[in-house]
Amino acid sequence: MKIICIGRNYADHAKELNNAVPSKPMVFMKPPSALLVNDKPFYIPDFTQDCHYELEVVLKIAKNGRHVQPEFAKDYVKEIALGIDFTARDLQSECKKKGHPWEIAKGFDGSAVLSNFVSIDTVNRSAVEFQMLKNGAVVQHGNTKDLIFTFEDLICYVSKFFKLQMGDLIYTGTPAGVGPVAIGDKLEGVLFTKNGNLDLLKCEVK
Ligand code: MG
Repeated sequence: MKIICIGRNYADHAKELNNAVPSKPMVFMKPPSALLVNDKPFYIPDFTQDCHYELEVVLKIAKNGRHVQPEFAKDYVKEIALGIDFTARDLQSECKKKGHPWEIAKGFDGSAVLSNFVSIDTVNRSAVEFQMLKNGAVVQHGNTKDLIFTFEDLICYVSKFFKLQMGDLIYTGTPAGVGPVAIGDKLEGVLFTKNGNLDLLKCEVK
């Protein structure tokens, strides 16, 4: 199982970190050991002084495929979830400065929080609205209609390089409003569905 992540896929978030808006999807991966499921608490690793949350819509790949063509891309996603791409921002900045890979800043244990999945039919698939609450206050409010690269764009692009396999995950990028976490913080991810708001993700920071 692969955890594929997309960076800088919302223009407002690219701007808040002083990054250029990319002309192609920016792809990185986390190892399966990064997964944190079942509302388990997140322990801030001791190697970072600036660990950030990034709430994202996560796609579950429904079938195997490579070089997926645009007209078939929709068939590859039947379920979505919310996830947090935890990032050691201080380590990431060091890596970026040196032109080094990001894995230690992005792929550490517990850095890929994942909620339960819901059917993609419960949301408007081209405009999925979602929110991150930190200690009860809204800190991120995203809508996938603002994605630079849509779900379908990502499936076509990623599958040129990596064979997509059933169960692979794609973290589709985070909107503006990322920020640091501290011990004791309570994070909640809310998905706006056709039948009302779903409190889909819960994560306590320890
Ligand atoms: Mg991210």
